[in-house]
Amino acid sequence: MKVGLLIIGDEILSGETLDTNSQFAAKLLNENGFNLVSRITVGDRENEIIKGLESLLNDADIVITCGGMGPTKDDITKNTIAAYFGSDMIWNKEVENELKSRYEKAGRVLNELTIQQSLVPEKAEIIMNPVGTAPVFWFNKDKKVVITLPGVPLEMRYILQNIIMDKIKSRFVADFILHETIRTVGIAESAIAGKLKELEEEIEKNCSSDNYFKLAYLPELAMVKLRLTGIGKNEDLIKTNIAKWKIKIEEQVSEFIYGYGDDELAATIGETLKNKRATLSTAESCTGGYIAHLISSIPGSSEYYQGSVITYAYEFKEELLDVKKETLTRYGAVSEETCREMIAGALKNLNTDYVITTTGIAGPGGGTPEKPVGTVWIGVGNKDRIITKKYTFNRNRTENIHLFAITALDMLRRMLKD
Ligand code: ATP
Ligand code: MG
Repeated sequence: MKVGLLIIGDEILSGETLDTNSQFAAKLLNENGFNLVSRITVGDRENEIIKGLESLLNDADIVITCGGMGPTKDDITKNTIAAYFGSDMIWNKEVENELKSRYEKAGRVLNELTIQQSLVPEKAEIIMNPVGTAPVFWFNKDKKVVITLPGVPLEMRYILQNIIMDKIKSRFVADFILHETIRTVGIAESAIAGKLKELEEEIEKNCSSDNYFKLAYLPELAMVKLRLTGIGKNEDLIKTNIAKWKIKIEEQVSEFIYGYGDDELAATIGETLKNKRATLSTAESCTGGYIAHLISSIPGSSEYYQGSVITYAYEFKEELLDVKKETLTRYGAVSEETCREMIAGALKNLNTDYVITTTGIAGPGGGTPEKPVGTVWIGVGNKDRIITKKYTFNRNRTENIHLFAITALDMLRRMLKD
């Protein structure tokens, strides 16, 4: 079953209000087996609302509109959609009585404007709004329906979740929808797509009019989420296919996979450390405690995470991590030599099993031709082994710091796997 969403409101188009209703509706519909195929945002103008509605009805079985249901002059959805369905407006005694009794109970005065909510389209089924004053209208058009929801997020959420979802489910047969998310780190989107090209073709070949499959690449900085989706009628087929393709992905890009669903890299590392009964500390220069933040954001991290030293200045590197003055002056802070000494010093002084260190140039200043902005030496180590690696990223300061941190965590993840 296909759903279209029509978001109505000048304030959404102007960027004044963030359209959180869409995200909420899309997620809820999807979880219930109703696939959002299109979303259109229009201003509070009659012709745009009609154009949007018609366009969505071309493709979708269910169109949900959202916003502009109030009684004020700028809210024109109600009259516009009623006119589209060729419906007169009639006074609905039930809505009037409900509003009156509600206001009376609350000891409030019902004003002239609000009582106008009792004026409703004759051709619509009227659904009471228990959390606001604007009733919801349900129009039938051939085999399709149009449902008008208020824009106030609290009202829209309540009504969709508690009233409309059940009504949609009793009227339409939901699809079976399955998503599997596999999280990867340390490989670019294009590179991972190259590795999964054949699988993608196989997935495409399995699509039919009844069952739809897709592999999506969702890139973030230094990470790519792979999302397998199956939507359709045949639950068994969808489950079997998605499970089969998940295994294929695991086989083909196993070294880059750090988790599934909502897993976080720092949490995955934390689990491994817990299983090994090992501790971790960090000695950060250019990441300034950001790695410490990522690690300590994970609940229960105190079981394995001991803490961090942030050694920005030479003196701190010397005093807290025993980096030799000579190393710093001869090779510079951003060098393999300094990175190695930082690890060795941290392992010794912080009395810990594993260490992560970073020393680099986040920018925008401080770069040289040999060590441009974005250069970083990252080190991970334990008492048996020290690994250092140089990377050069090419982003702004915030993104560089994030990339340094994720890459450092990934280096530790790989070391822990070995
Ligand atoms: P009311 O009956 O209260 O007048 P309404 O249906 O007319 O409700 P609007 O006037 O369009 O709703 O919007 C009410 C409030 O909800 C406004 O503050 C608006 O910015 C906000 N809002 C509207 N649409 C959205 C949306 N898609 N996402 C988030 N907020 C929204
Ligand atoms: Mg509005």
